[in-house]
Amino acid sequence: MRKNYEVAIIGTGPSGAFAAYNLAKKGISTVIIDKETLPRYKICGGGLVYRGRKMLDFSIDEILEGEFNQVDIFVKDKDVHFTPKREMPVISMVMRDTFDELLVKKAQEFGAELLQNSEVKSIKNGILKFANSDEEIEAKFIIIADGALSPVSKLAGFEDDRLLIPAIEYEIEVPEEDFVRLSKSVRFDIDAAPFGYGWCFPKNNHLSVGVGVLKTKAKVKLKDYCATYMKDLEINTIISETSHGFVIPITPRNELVKGNCFVIGDAAGFADPIVAEGISNALLSGKIIAEAISDGNLEVEKTKEKYIEKVNEKLIPELKIGIKLAKFFYENTTIRNLFVKKFGALAAERLTDVFLGKSTYPSDYKKKLQEKLKISLPWM
Ligand SMILES: Cc1cc2nc3c(=O)[nH]c(=O)nc-3n(C[C@H](O)[C@H](O)[C@H](O)COP(=O)(O)OP(=O)(O)OC[C@H]3O[C@@H](n4cnc5c(N)ncnc54)[C@H](O)[C@@H]3O)c2cc1C
Repeated sequence: MRKNYEVAIIGTGPSGAFAAYNLAKKGISTVIIDKETLPRYKICGGGLVYRGRKMLDFSIDEILEGEFNQVDIFVKDKDVHFTPKREMPVISMVMRDTFDELLVKKAQEFGAELLQNSEVKSIKNGILKFANSDEEIEAKFIIIADGALSPVSKLAGFEDDRLLIPAIEYEIEVPEEDFVRLSKSVRFDIDAAPFGYGWCFPKNNHLSVGVGVLKTKAKVKLKDYCATYMKDLEINTIISETSHGFVIPITPRNELVKGNCFVIGDAAGFADPIVAEGISNALLSGKIIAEAISDGNLEVEKTKEKYIEKVNEKLIPELKIGIKLAKFFYENTTIRNLFVKKFGALAAERLTDVFLGKSTYPSDYKKKLQEKLKISLPWM
């Protein structure tokens, strides 16, 4: 049997779910598809920064696991600690199974249809076929929101030029005194891993602790880094743990559209290159593609133009600057430490403003760094 829709979205992560929500809200016939059955676990620290949260025009209180108006940023071995504070929650804690399911439910309330337990195995001329059923879906627009590995973009013939960085996350239950001590704040520890950082995010009953390495060709021993990081956090007893390693794409694809197929979220490579925070740009790209389809009057060529135009305006410039800044920050630690010592508090405030969506990374970053450090940075 074949069913027809204007739009078929593959993936119920924040990018796909928010695209479905915005499309359904505009009355556009939409199906959202996932190989899993919701709610499903997703490897993620679950730190939702405010720039992402403020895009949601509905309450997420029912699934929130915490809200933090301040962030603790430590630089390992440098005895430096910054704590930017704001009036609004800079970072909210979510578990991705309930968060993603809520977004999908909101899309369903506006009429989006959900097809679960359906792994897309072929995509041709707007027709999707599945691994475990004979059902077919035909759609004018195919939105590929299937995450970091993005098998569907391969099926659709996209070249993959994204850079993927490795990260590992532990969901751990710790003794009560450790939980009480570590659940008072969200913290980032720069250099908890070489070329990277560690995070400790408190959830309702457990901690999400992990490390990410923001250099693609680095030699990575994520489990060892994370074990050392937990020791640094003085976590000596773990009551229960699950660990998950995965990748995060931190550079955008050159090609974002092929025929009637559009990539968004991690499938497009839209995570922030400095902190590898991917939820907010996943949400943003979901919103952008829905606007592009609507502004393009449901015509493929017009939508393509609108999507590229909006992405080039709202996402790509910041990602490009972020890639350069990440290189400076993680790979040139001697100069970086000099900078952090003198201007770290200011930089932490600026990063917080980016998390809030109040500003983006500065386009004149090189000039600013050179002026502040009074040295030339020819490699940047
Ligand atoms: C260890 C780790 C920690 C992270 N921590 C944070 C954090 O704290 N904050 C933050 O903002 N970001 C974090 N990220 C990044 C964030 O998880 C991603 O950027 C975000 O999930 C991207 O959302 P998405 O919608 O593009 O894709 P995803 O959330 O990956 O969703 C993709 C969906 O597609 C489905 N799918 C895949 N293939 C198929 C198929 N063939 N057919 C049908 N369905 C399919 C999957 O089942 C999945 O539901 C972290 C990532 C990692 C790896």
